Amino acid sequence: MSTEFSTDKSSLRVDLHSHTKCSDGSLTPEELIERAVGYQIDMLAITDHDTTEAFNIASSYIKDKNYPIKLVSGVEISTGWHGFEIHVVGLNIDINNPQLCELIAAQQQVRERRARMMAEKLAKCGFDNMYDKAKKLAGSAALTRTHFAKVLLNEGSVNTMQAAFDKYIGKGKRAYIKPMWTDIENACAVIEQAGGHSVLAHPIRYDLSAKWRRRLIVEFKLWGGDALEVALPQMNQQQRQQMVSYCQEYDLLASAGSDFHAPSRWSDLGRNLNLPDNCKPVWQQWR
Ligand code: AMP
Ligand code: MN
Ligand code: MN
Ligand code: MN
Repeated sequence: MSTEFSTDKSSLRVDLHSHTKCSDGSLTPEELIERAVGYQIDMLAITDHDTTEAFNIASSYIKDKNYPIKLVSGVEISTGWHGFEIHVVGLNIDINNPQLCELIAAQQQVRERRARMMAEKLAKCGFDNMYDKAKKLAGSAALTRTHFAKVLLNEGSVNTMQAAFDKYIGKGKRAYIKPMWTDIENACAVIEQAGGHSVLAHPIRYDLSAKWRRRLIVEFKLWGGDALEVALPQMNQQQRQQMVSYCQEYDLLASAGSDFHAPSRWSDLGRNLNLPDNCKPVWQQWR
């Protein structure tokens, strides 16, 4: 992107949460950029699960095509917190930072180990060779539960991806493996060391009571968290305002992202992501 790029443009189209084939998205980094440019998105972050592989691919592609889009480096780190899987997005990070690379390598090892354990449990449910099948589907991508769900769907063992989670691999189900991830504090610390901002991803999506959600936000802030995802396509104005209230109360910045994985009828890249006026966008810190 050219140096005259300004983060002040009031009508900036921003999407700071998206996935590619490097984790559990359905598009290649190049296809994702094509889609973003087609939608006239000004600023995009690819935030694959525990990997930054897509960044250089997408970045070179943008340069080759001379596309007018600002690509922000990103990652979505899985963490464990009181038995919940809490996702922390790192934005505007140095993807070559040694501590970040070390954390990513450790998280990938956890993904491998968990996949093998999940496959053992799935074998007891009557599904054989699930590790090999999921690995084959994932190729060199970060191995996720989405890949296992896809194998079950492709084999006709479930009727929808959601059913795979509801019946087998979702929290507390027969083939679920409890989180073995890093913790929120470490994720925030590493993101800071890599010069980035840490964002609590989709705060409304965790199955938490209002009391526990507040506790999560308080501890996130305490551990160095910088921002909350205030706008997701599925959030109504009231939910966005609730997040803005938390931002004001705990001095947190605001982010916006679609969590795009694949083209679908219900959500798309860069849609319905406007932040309310009374919050501070995380990207205004990047100059
Ligand atoms: P993982 O990071 O390997 O645990 O995979 C989690 C991913 O599975 C999420 O990022 C979603 O993309 C996808 N997913 C789809 N449905 C569900 C669900 N009901 N529960 C958890 N994850 C889901
Ligand atoms: Mn995902
Ligand atoms: Mn997530
Ligand atoms: Mn995500």
